[in-house]
Amino acid sequence: MRADPAVQRRLLDLAEVDAELNRIDHRRRTLPELVEIVERENVERTKRDKVIAIQTTLRDLNRDAIRQETEIEAVRAREERDRTLLQGNVSARQLVDLEHELGTLSRRQTSLEDDLLELMERREAVEQDVAHAKSEHEAAETALADVRKRRDEVFGDLEVSEIRRTKDRAQLVPVFPADLLALYDRIRKQKGIGAALLRARKCGACRLELDRNAIAHIRDTAPEEVVRCDECGAILVRTPESGL
Ligand SMILES: [Zn+2]
Repeated sequence: MRADPAVQRRLLDLAEVDAELNRIDHRRRTLPELVEIVERENVERTKRDKVIAIQTTLRDLNRDAIRQETEIEAVRAREERDRTLLQGNVSARQLVDLEHELGTLSRRQTSLEDDLLELMERREAVEQDVAHAKSEHEAAETALADVRKRRDEVFGDLEVSEIRRTKDRAQLVPVFPADLLALYDRIRKQKGIGAALLRARKCGACRLELDRNAIAHIRDTAPEEVVRCDECGAILVRTPESGL
């Protein structure tokens, strides 16, 4: 393939733009924030689950407390009924029975009230746990939002650079004949770098030094002829720096 040496040299500009586009793409895929986001999402989810679990415990305790209060109320009503009965005309037998029952009810009530007190103390502790878990969850949410914001900022910058470079590329492309551009793009897709400067006998793409035979061959090749690196396939652009 042949191409004007000046046009061949412009391939270096194209390769630079493409290298920059590759860097942008690589940066976007390997952003440390992406790993951090996954980690912080896990933390946030764990903290949220914890809040839900403690809230469930609290709800259960509230339900138990209501049940306990209802039972205490029932015992109290029964006591009141018995006392009212005692004030009326009762037989000696009924008197004994009622007093016995009142004793039992009183012990029952004390026991229920003790249980309720314990329950309320536990509820107070669990309420504190809920508050603590909520604040931890909020902190996790904030940290997650922060890292997402940082990611979005970097993505925004990368997008600006990408748009600019894509525009640069679109302006460069018409410089090249279709066959040369097609060759360049094919090598770039396969090997990553489509063209590079041959500098001091080294291929700028794979960094390998060309052997004497290869250098002699290139030296004897007309400047219009497109030459490629034997190692990596990149189009080698010759300039006075090439060491030929
Ligand atoms: Zn090479």
